[in-house]
Amino acid sequence: MQISTTLSTETVDDARLAEILANPGFGIHFTDHMFTVEWTPEKGWHDARITPYGPLSLDPATAVLHYAQETFEGMKAYRREDGSVWTFRPEANAARMARSSQRLAFPELPVDDFVAAVDALVQVDERWVPDGEGEKSLYIRPFMIATETFLGVRPSQHVTFMVIASPAGAYFKGGIKPVSLWLTEEYTRAGRGGMGAAKTGGNYASSLVAQQEATANGCDQVVFLDVAEGKYVEELGGMNMYFVFKDGSIVTPATGTILEGITRSSIIQIADGLGHQVTERRFSIDEWRDGITSGDIVEIFACGTAAVITPVGALKWDGGEVGAPASQELTMRIRQALVDVQYGRAEDSFGWMHHVV
Ligand SMILES: *Cc1c(COP(=O)(O)O)cnc(C)c1O
Repeated sequence: MQISTTLSTETVDDARLAEILANPGFGIHFTDHMFTVEWTPEKGWHDARITPYGPLSLDPATAVLHYAQETFEGMKAYRREDGSVWTFRPEANAARMARSSQRLAFPELPVDDFVAAVDALVQVDERWVPDGEGEKSLYIRPFMIATETFLGVRPSQHVTFMVIASPAGAYFKGGIKPVSLWLTEEYTRAGRGGMGAAKTGGNYASSLVAQQEATANGCDQVVFLDVAEGKYVEELGGMNMYFVFKDGSIVTPATGTILEGITRSSIIQIADGLGHQVTERRFSIDEWRDGITSGDIVEIFACGTAAVITPVGALKWDGGEVGAPASQELTMRIRQALVDVQYGRAEDSFGWMHHVV
């Protein structure tokens, strides 16, 4: 893939950038440039380019605006103490986007092109990568949208893949604190044959009303159960779940209708290395309630790129509640081990890190 570059003549000045990086928040400020590549059946992927960051001009009949043919990814670039910048398992994000693309009837972007696109943007906007202090990072958002101007329902014959990036502060301000969860019995995420395993905006659109329900009930996040039986724990709106038992064994819900988190799969390897057996299986909501009551479940955590790992506290549902698990010890150990690899403070024994600058 040949990438052309048109540099911005209106880059954010150093003083303003320092101000932004001191307190970046999440998804608020965007870097000076963006990456774009387009696809048509005749030309395949073509016209790869880095250009100044700015608004898109879209015809109101652009397909994505109507039928949500869209996929996205979320990943981060981390700055080490020596100043170098690294991404975490970018090929895994690329491979997942290819799987999501298949489900959404999109053409696949080759893994190498995905990684090259992310590298190119991070390199041109390297000064936007905050120092790693306090778990700051550059959040990277690759996405693919249906850009044919057409209101018929069929796969778009014009597709646009873009990468944008936004500096991100620590997910937890003022220390890590467990998230409380609301169990929705009304709404579900995805059923067999649905889009649950694809990273696509539609899954998030469908989660919003359930999240509102959680907030209205005083909880931080919502947890979804399976569609078929309404019995088995799937995941949160955007995070996978883990349950730690008294004997040190760990259970995480099996894949199929959940999103296969890259944090989730990394944790399986880290926990295994720490001598904990991890089982991927169906995990019922009753097992959760009973495990907390009996003390068999000692820790619960959720994971995803944004928060890395967050301890899970109380679970509430319509008519009941169970309290937080007893401990967060292993949760925090696994979290630290992962964060240390990401910021280059521990040996990268799995070969997960990719050097960008
Ligand atoms: C992105 C996402 C996750 C977490 O995946 P990571 O690769 O670990 O960031 C979990 N659940 C859903 C629904 C997601 O979209």
